[in-house]
Amino acid sequence: MGSPDTGERVVPSEIVLTTRVGQLPGVTQEQADALIRLGIPNVGHLLTHLPSRYEQEEPETTIDQVVPERVVSVRGEVSATRPVTFGRARRFEAVLVDHTGRLDLVWFHMPYLAKRIHPGDRLLVQGKASERNHKVQIANARWELLDPDAEEPEERDARLRPVYPASEAIGSRAIEAILERVLERATDQLPDHLDEAYRRARELPSLADTYRMIHAPESQADVDNARRRLAYDEFLLLQMGVALKRRHLRERLQAPELDWNETIDQRIRARLPFTLTMAQDHAVQELVRDLTRPVPTNRMVQGDVGSGKTVVALYAMLMAVASGHQGALMAPTELLAEQHHASIDAMLAGSGVRTALLTGSLTPGERESTLARLASGDVDLIVGTHALLGGKTAFRSLAVAVIDEQHRFGVRQRAQLRTSGTRAETDTAELTSAVTPHVIVMTATPIPRSIGLTLFGDLDLSVIDALPPGRAPIATTVESNADRGRVYGEVRAEIDAGGQAFVVVPAIDTGSTGGDDELRDLRAVMDELESGALDGKRVAALHGRLKRDTRAHIMERFRSGLIDCLVATTVIEVGVDVPNATVMVVEHADRFGLAQLHQLRGRVGRGSKPGRCVLIGDPTTEDGTLRLAAMAKTTSGFELAERDLEIRGPGEVFGQRQSGAPPFKVADLLADGELLSMARRDAQGWISEAPNLDRAGDALIRRRMMKAHGAWLGLGDVG
Ligand code: ADP
Ligand code: MG
Repeated sequence: MGSPDTGERVVPSEIVLTTRVGQLPGVTQEQADALIRLGIPNVGHLLTHLPSRYEQEEPETTIDQVVPERVVSVRGEVSATRPVTFGRARRFEAVLVDHTGRLDLVWFHMPYLAKRIHPGDRLLVQGKASERNHKVQIANARWELLDPDAEEPEERDARLRPVYPASEAIGSRAIEAILERVLERATDQLPDHLDEAYRRARELPSLADTYRMIHAPESQADVDNARRRLAYDEFLLLQMGVALKRRHLRERLQAPELDWNETIDQRIRARLPFTLTMAQDHAVQELVRDLTRPVPTNRMVQGDVGSGKTVVALYAMLMAVASGHQGALMAPTELLAEQHHASIDAMLAGSGVRTALLTGSLTPGERESTLARLASGDVDLIVGTHALLGGKTAFRSLAVAVIDEQHRFGVRQRAQLRTSGTRAETDTAELTSAVTPHVIVMTATPIPRSIGLTLFGDLDLSVIDALPPGRAPIATTVESNADRGRVYGEVRAEIDAGGQAFVVVPAIDTGSTGGDDELRDLRAVMDELESGALDGKRVAALHGRLKRDTRAHIMERFRSGLIDCLVATTVIEVGVDVPNATVMVVEHADRFGLAQLHQLRGRVGRGSKPGRCVLIGDPTTEDGTLRLAAMAKTTSGFELAERDLEIRGPGEVFGQRQSGAPPFKVADLLADGELLSMARRDAQGWISEAPNLDRAGDALIRRRMMKAHGAWLGLGDVG
């Protein structure tokens, strides 16, 4: 068809999966280059280049059978063409004839067609017929030029036609034509990593059939079947990697066995300014059980914003210190690390526990000395940002590593922290009984169960499912820009009544003048508040461009009530803990994501006074409207996470950036839940029978699994 075809359909038998695309008969050099740029260097890659969708192709008819409202496919010769410009409207018209009659074709806003379609061309067109001026026509038909030098394709029955991700240089049709020629030969050679009995038990097609069905389906059922197999494979390989990793961790690595007894427990609790809630206590018990064993802990502590995860982490780190080891707490932002350090220091005042802070804003000298004290064991407990992961960080004996707000980090970083305690050993290939820290990750982002199992399947889970006592729920309202005057009047009243306020803006400085439809940046909002609604109140700005000392000073003054209102960027999103802050206004709230708004909102209502959050925004998109409505409706982080999934889809919510895991090509975490459970069971069964995937028949699946997941899971050294 559209592609240069020698007419010769015989494909030499030497075509194998590794045959370069340039070597395929009928593929021009330009096409080969274009394929390579699409990431398709050889036949194997061509097979796994999956259609992004399918078009229903209609059965072919003759022109006299074309009636309005019917979707049809016809072929004929172009007898005339005409570009028409009428004011700003442009269209291109053509007349198609066959032995039964003539049909008008019209395309709108595609002036370039004048260069592509000429009288005398033979076309195969497809589209929905309509009636205009008593004549039947097809508007915006899909069309295909029939190659005069090649044999014309046979008349088609209705079928599904794959549409491939393509480029300017090579279109979907050309890819389809190339695939058509190699499909049989290539699939015949495709080794399957699942044997027939295994597949039959699960009603899965063979890989060869799968690729035949996905590229050349005879029905929608073919497509569905093929997708099911591919999705299953994606789940299976990932689950296998995760299971292998978990096993490896348990059997080949050792973590320090920490001491625990009543005395230690009493001493730790005496340091906390309050009694732990039952939910916190429960998490602590689970951690005590973990940490007193030599098996490396990999636990996620999940609790909504404000549920009190910090002290649970502190408890674990103090257990490390009590046993003569070190603890580390890693936070995603400098501000949060500074906050954690300050509050932990306050709780530990006079205890003899030596703490330190390690962030990117230390001077080289401060950094050197902190690292030296860490290495010599003169620091017991360190709080830091990912500067903690710098290549030079060496601990004397890191026993408990906590990662706060884990969703802000990747799996890679988690793996990196795990190796911190074992730097010397990991440099050698010998990993047997290497010492690794217990790793605890904390998150406020609730992860729906199926997703959690998939992406964090190597983690145990503790849930803190209740807030500390005396918290009043945060009341959230959505207001339009037109109501800002009233909103800030209420903020002023709140300050007069002894409260404090946050105002969150999306940007520091956009150079805008603050006109009504423009983005109000931090500067504009500061100016407006200081000379307007909050005239005479103490207003300060807080953002990421401030120096560390300035930032710390402002936070300290806000905490002690010397500042009434903090106008801030999202630097305050996580962790900031000022219980007297009662009201938050978010400017341009529709520009923030749900998870972010929920985190931001969690900065107020952390004490005994009820919190209030005002989201100002006039969303211009449907998503924006839905997000704000969801925020006003519920204060449950869990419900919001589910809403977020519905609005944005799992790819966005738990994309590679967040999880560190490679995204799925075919599988859909929401829709394929049952398949996921099946794959999970299968993977676990498989790994428990063949812990190193080293049975004779496992070589292929092992290779495919390692290729997909070995690197990010850090499985290089397994087996
Ligand atoms: P998050 O889970 O969001 O990290 P934090 O650990 O910052 O929450 O705790 C939120 C607030 O609740 C802090 O001010 C903390 O001191 C307080 N808090 C934590 N646990 C308790 C408790 N058991 N009783 C009373 N207040 C608590
Ligand atoms: Mg926290």
